[in-house]
Amino acid sequence: MNRHRALPLIALVLICTSFVAHGEEDKALTLITNANVFDGVNETLVTDVDILIEGSLIKQIATDVPVPDKAQVIDAAGKTVIPGLIDAHWHVTYAYTPAKILLMNQGDMSEVAIRSMTGAKETLLRGFTTVRDPGGNPLSIKAMIDSGEYPGHRILPSGPFMSPTSGHADFYGRLDSPRDKSYMSYWERNMMAMTSDGVPEVRLRTRDILRSGATQIKITTGGGVSSLYDPLDVSEYSVDEIKAVVEEATNYNTYVLAHVMTDRGIRTSVEAGVMSIEHGFFASEETLKLMKKKGAWLSPQPMLEEDMVWANPVSAAKYKQVTDAVSQLYPMAKKIGVNLAFGTDQLMDASKASQQSGYLVRLGRWFTPYEVLKIATSENARLLKLSGPRHPYQEGPLGVIKEGAYADLILVDGNPLADLSLVGNPGKYFVLIMKDGTIYKNTLQ
Ligand SMILES: [Zn+2]
Repeated sequence: MNRHRALPLIALVLICTSFVAHGEEDKALTLITNANVFDGVNETLVTDVDILIEGSLIKQIATDVPVPDKAQVIDAAGKTVIPGLIDAHWHVTYAYTPAKILLMNQGDMSEVAIRSMTGAKETLLRGFTTVRDPGGNPLSIKAMIDSGEYPGHRILPSGPFMSPTSGHADFYGRLDSPRDKSYMSYWERNMMAMTSDGVPEVRLRTRDILRSGATQIKITTGGGVSSLYDPLDVSEYSVDEIKAVVEEATNYNTYVLAHVMTDRGIRTSVEAGVMSIEHGFFASEETLKLMKKKGAWLSPQPMLEEDMVWANPVSAAKYKQVTDAVSQLYPMAKKIGVNLAFGTDQLMDASKASQQSGYLVRLGRWFTPYEVLKIATSENARLLKLSGPRHPYQEGPLGVIKEGAYADLILVDGNPLADLSLVGNPGKYFVLIMKDGTIYKNTLQ
């Protein structure tokens, strides 16, 4: 083809592409009719309405919405629409990866990635459309899911969780902790966990992690169950180190979450500016009041002793101490009215990951079904907003069903505000799951 004939053709192609890009035609339309709606905030269901979804957002909620051309119509027939669930403590790259890979180096990042990708799909199909990842490397997984190429939930990644030497992120052998601080283990180089010591190194690592795309920073300021060198009673990081991490995160317009259980550790962290306390099982009433005053969040897990089996007797004993504290913490947090998140922290066992749904039902021991569902939707979404401009999903709100919100929703066969156990069996009762306007499960048609 000569140049004179090619030019008009190129012009025509350009005009057509821009028309498609700017036209309404390319946005998928879905109309869900005859639905009862729990909007994520209010206890009263909005009954018998239609929900129009255009592209990734909810465009209209009203009675008798006219059916647009080319819209897929789904008759909810009186079933209940609820917002997609949010897990505020879900390790994308740890939940489905066996311990032997991470702790005994019997696998590498390729295996972690493949297992985690499968996990992200399964987690989405349990109705969790968004997770905050408090440690690990789901950065590429997030990008692949966000592109729409692979099924999975939204992710707000913290990148590697960071502790000092001998802390919760120290996976070095007891006898070979490196003194050359430029050395990093395989898992550190791959952003799964990170040790750092002293204010200058802590600042450098925090900046590295933010540069890699973390939407908030996770540190450990107290002992952990799965790690070997940090009894539950210890405090990790000096006040100066915690303040340095907080300053770096604040400079980046985001926040710090801290793994910590002891009352002393929680108080130190909150006073140094940490905004989200992960686990927090041994918090006193005074400390919870301080957290409330500072607007900080408590992010515990409703764990029971039988949930996890520990090969290591040290971890088993620590775990029992924790589960004994759980039943006291929730009623106290409720009474004081501290910001409360829902997160499940499933680790290193794909066969146990589905406990995520059961944990949600278990919150019903201390809260009404309405309170439980509000915490796991709009309240968790409010926590995620602490990431400010680093929050990756800015087109509309998450965790609510309203016009302009992201179309992340579940159609429940029954009313979970009357019977919370329905959310414990998503395979049966979640008949439709939509994320970002795309349907990932639909057993109605
Ligand atoms: Zn965790």
